Amino acid sequence: YERLDKVSPVDFDCGQLCGEVCCVYDEEDYRNEELALYLLPGEELMYEDSDSFELYYIDSSEIKYPHSWKDQIYLVKCKTPPKCDRSIRPIQCRTFPLIPHLNKKGEFHLIFDESEFPYKCPIVNNHIKLNDDFVRTTYEVWSMLISNPLVYDLIDMDSRMRDNRKTDYEIII
Ligand code: SF4
Ligand code: SF4
Repeated sequence: YERLDKVSPVDFDCGQLCGEVCCVYDEEDYRNEELALYLLPGEELMYEDSDSFELYYIDSSEIKYPHSWKDQIYLVKCKTPPKCDRSIRPIQCRTFPLIPHLNKKGEFHLIFDESEFPYKCPIVNNHIKLNDDFVRTTYEVWSMLISNPLVYDLIDMDSRMRDNRKTDYEIII
């Protein structure tokens, strides 16, 4: 979190381009599997005493997750989007709109994938150049995170599903 706090995707308020759609899209449907803010293992500890987020969990057998995720899957709902306690926003928000991907040789990349969310992010849609330090730091952070076997399994599963869908994506790094 500290490392990602020091960088931003772009040097302007990209929320002005889209009305902060990635925070407010279909709020009422936040518990929908596609749109919820899923947490990485251990990340739930950040939200135990937060007034800005509602922490909840679902059983790993209820959703399409790797078999290695045997326990509960934690999620958070932002109570007042697009405002939140940015000091504890989840990794998923901190590294957006970059998506971690493992190619078939197991090589790790960060990609833009328009099919990944149900709204248009202008940065992805218009191929707006991201700040170099954001891309580099996000790559380093995800590279560390995938050394956790559960995170690796999740990224691998998402990547194979992306391959099966034959999704067009753009490799950023
Ligand atoms: S990251 Fe994309 S969707 Fe989110 S506020 Fe910026 S331009 Fe909009
Ligand atoms: S945690 Fe903050 S940045 Fe992330 S979706 Fe919610 S309001 Fe937006």
